[in-house]
Amino acid sequence: MNDTTTTLDVHQCTQCGKTLFPARYFCPACGGANWRRYVAQTGTVMETTIVRHRAGAPGAAPLYLATVHTDAGPAVIACSATPLADKTRVSLMVDAAHRIVASALDTPEPSGDRYADQ
Ligand SMILES: [Zn+2]
Repeated sequence: MNDTTTTLDVHQCTQCGKTLFPARYFCPACGGANWRRYVAQTGTVMETTIVRHRAGAPGAAPLYLATVHTDAGPAVIACSATPLADKTRVSLMVDAAHRIVASALDTPEPSGDRYADQ
């Protein structure tokens, strides 16, 4: 992954507040056409898939994809460096290749770890 990242911006209708991604000309809820940017920083993994074979990229590393329900509203498809479990809380950003990247926020504590040396 590239270090140059930007925020994931979704689009919120200024008239009714509906939040969409990607942008549209008109709001499907109210017909409004004025939008403001809204940063979608976090979300929850709803589904995942692993792409193991890609056309034109024989032998490429597996691609981990997740459908993420953003806290801002819309669902987005994001890639991740490692497989993510359903319901994982993630941060979202856009990398230099314009891919939406999800990174796990929750790092579950290994149970009993603090007593490992006893
Ligand atoms: Zn609207």
